[in-house]
Amino acid sequence: MTNNTNNLANPLIDTATHWKNWSGLQQSNPAQFVTPTDTIQLSQIIRESKKCRVVGAGHSFSPLVCTDGTLISLDSLTGLVSHDEKLNQSTIQAGTRLKNLGAVLDPINQALQNQGDIDEQSLAGAISTGTHGTGKDLNCLSGFVEGFQLMTANGETLDCSRTQNNTIFEAGRVSLGSLGVLTQITMQNIPRYRLKEEIKLTPLQDILSHMDQWKTENRHIECMVFVHANDAILKSLNPTTEDIQTLPAPWPSDDALLTMCSEVAKNTPLLNPYVQKLLGVFVKPTTRVDWSSVIFPSVRETRFNEMEYQIPAERGLECLAEVVATLKIHKAPVFFPLEYRYVKADDIWLSPFYQQDCASISVHQYHKQDCHEIFKIVEPIFWKYGGRPHWGKMHTLSATELKKLYPRWEDFMKIRQELDPTNKWINPHLESLFLG
Ligand SMILES: Cc1cc2nc3c(=O)[nH]c(=O)nc-3n(C[C@H](O)[C@H](O)[C@H](O)COP(=O)(O)OP(=O)(O)OC[C@H]3O[C@@H](n4cnc5c(N)ncnc54)[C@H](O)[C@@H]3O)c2cc1C
Repeated sequence: MTNNTNNLANPLIDTATHWKNWSGLQQSNPAQFVTPTDTIQLSQIIRESKKCRVVGAGHSFSPLVCTDGTLISLDSLTGLVSHDEKLNQSTIQAGTRLKNLGAVLDPINQALQNQGDIDEQSLAGAISTGTHGTGKDLNCLSGFVEGFQLMTANGETLDCSRTQNNTIFEAGRVSLGSLGVLTQITMQNIPRYRLKEEIKLTPLQDILSHMDQWKTENRHIECMVFVHANDAILKSLNPTTEDIQTLPAPWPSDDALLTMCSEVAKNTPLLNPYVQKLLGVFVKPTTRVDWSSVIFPSVRETRFNEMEYQIPAERGLECLAEVVATLKIHKAPVFFPLEYRYVKADDIWLSPFYQQDCASISVHQYHKQDCHEIFKIVEPIFWKYGGRPHWGKMHTLSATELKKLYPRWEDFMKIRQELDPTNKWINPHLESLFLG
């Protein structure tokens, strides 16, 4: 086992026992930070700790990972365990980062069915919060889980699938690290595929009028709406057999441009609408073709904090229009665009997409600006439309409100209580979500 108390190799550990998330907003001082190298060590750590949390890549915006107990990283438990060629399934060590999955899956001609904006997350971390991409016929990543191995609070391992420990399987595919540590995950993949990406600037009015049609014509579609410019960047991805077609790296890079504009908008709020409108000059229509694992992720170096809610799909555009109009009325100091995507319904008890096709709306704020100011403006709109929050992003709901949104809430809580009678996995944030 690596005890990282004196090891600063992990970028999220910035002093001996100080942890912070990607945006820097969530911080805590774990008593110890450990990176077990096998499941025997993991079991020993869990048995010896009164309080534990497990961290993936620390890319959640909500304080899911914060603990003053033991913080466990599975960074040493990575790679392919086994695969089934006929079924296109692969069993992967839970600490594997999505960005390393290409190297694992390419040689066996498999690929994830969908991915989100970035690929820095660990597989287990992404699964545990219902991380998703876009596509009206595509689930969040947890919806592609066929089975997993879970190490529980007493250090024992359970195999869970539709046919083994079925109720734990139903509960555990989105469980915020509250049932134990996922050590291996079996994914339903598809054969490796190429995607054609098309990006163009589109008037917001066209998005509001046509997006519901476009979502049926594209495997993946999403838009990034600039609130003060009435424009959006529209991005579609569709399977293709065309040859790989790459683009020269733009100068300045999208990310450098985003940082620059965010700084200008922060320092001189009056310029924000003009800077947003000017962006049209930089966003040229582009097309490229590459393997799915290359096309899906974008570089996100400009730090931000984020709130995201999943809205019933049929009311998504109405909600988007209201969020944009409200932010405008408040002259909200936000440069970052809103993101609008689609996700298919699933049957996972704590999935925000439980029995509900959804439109996903995200609001981002530059990390050097107060995010609460704009989140306070938009969150009541999301509630009005019956939205469920992304577990890994910021929201203010607690148990009283959450249980009304999830028909299988009590079933989940029963399993959680059985698997963790001493609340070993519960930190203050989970206490307010589950017990508050
Ligand atoms: C720049 C950026 C872009 C993003 N883009 C998207 C996007 O496109 N779509 C989307 O849906 N989300 C997105 N997110 C959110 C992100 O995908 C989720 O918050 C995800 O859970 C983070 O994964 P992680 O590995 O960093 O997990 P962490 O944030 O470290 O942990 C998340 C949860 O998983 C639990 N966990 C981690 N490992 C295990 C394990 N082995 N066993 C059990 N529980 C475990 C943790 O305890 C915690 O509760 C983005 C976040 C950032 C910062």
